[in-house]
Amino acid sequence: MKLEDSWTVSGIHYGTGRPVQVKIQGTQIVNVSPDDSADHSDLPFIGPGLVDLQINGYGGRDFNTHPLSVDMVSSVTEQLWQTGVTAYCPTIITNGDQEIEDAARMIAKACDQNTNVEHSVIGIHLEGPFITPEDGPRGAHDRQYVKAPDWNLFQRWQEVAGGRISILTISPEWESAPTFIERCVDNGVIVSIGHTSASPEQIQEAVKAGARLSTHLGNGAHLMLPRHPNYIWEQLAEDSLYACIIADGFHLPDSFIKVALRAKGDRLMLVSDAVSLSGMPPGTYDMHIGGRVQLTEEGRLCVAEQPELLAGSAQMLTWGIGKLVSSGLTDLKNAWDMASIRPARFVDSPHAGELAAGAAADLVLFDMRGKELTVRQTIKGGQSVYTRA
Ligand SMILES: [Zn+2]
Repeated sequence: MKLEDSWTVSGIHYGTGRPVQVKIQGTQIVNVSPDDSADHSDLPFIGPGLVDLQINGYGGRDFNTHPLSVDMVSSVTEQLWQTGVTAYCPTIITNGDQEIEDAARMIAKACDQNTNVEHSVIGIHLEGPFITPEDGPRGAHDRQYVKAPDWNLFQRWQEVAGGRISILTISPEWESAPTFIERCVDNGVIVSIGHTSASPEQIQEAVKAGARLSTHLGNGAHLMLPRHPNYIWEQLAEDSLYACIIADGFHLPDSFIKVALRAKGDRLMLVSDAVSLSGMPPGTYDMHIGGRVQLTEEGRLCVAEQPELLAGSAQMLTWGIGKLVSSGLTDLKNAWDMASIRPARFVDSPHAGELAAGAAADLVLFDMRGKELTVRQTIKGGQSVYTRA
């Protein structure tokens, strides 16, 4: 066996605020010790790699573009290093049966052909098409492709994906949902409730059948709801449901995030739900989903003709973490954990763990000024894969 050289990075521990030296050998952290050197003034923060359970694309590329290619998936994977994301679930949304199949096949092919992709894609998130047909909670998903849960169809997609579909967002309002959810759970697929107009009873039946997650809780909902009961209260109050939220500063008010933080505690996670315009400069763009959209200087993505309507998120996890911390909703440790360790544990991935010996050497060195987090260096599998120029 070849003895691999070890190397060390220094940074301010994102959780304790103390300077540490992290020793890396091969793909693992082998030691974390206090950094006793005299000058810590220019040290970046250091934390575990970020893990995004819901991301549609980045830097102008989208997993829902057809035809998708191995190069596109590889390129997104590598560009995400600039944002500190070292593991993620490429997200395929409601589309024609063949389009979903093609996207799943291409992501699987990219995993087979590119080890960077293989080690970064911790599962495919299929969001739809078994969601609500109703305007409002359906969001931007195309109504013509929405349908009732169909096990044979899902199996067809899972087969071409090589079993990689690990999260499935569905609405439990369909009559066949409980049976379908049980089958998913028996086959190791995490079922998440989202884009739903389900009744509280249907939510409870889904939980009984094994649903474990809420997809971007508080979004993908009607503009007007009965004050109570409703599907948001029901999911907030259900302790066995983990929840993901989009904290880009536009999708949810701080008051909702505060309540979700208290209701869910360490079961709350952050996703970007970023579309392909993330990482792109402000401007007006023509999208295959949502038509003409505008990305404002402030980072808000909206329908160009109706700026009051959001057209998805264009912000990454670092942005959401910065928002949570700068608004005083939570501290850096908790916000970073919500976007790294927790989602990794939730999907049972070894790609993000405590800064401790034995954890994967997927690490991010970053600076934080006000609400702005910038990545200085990203380490993936023990290799430095991105350094800011
Ligand atoms: Zn959605």
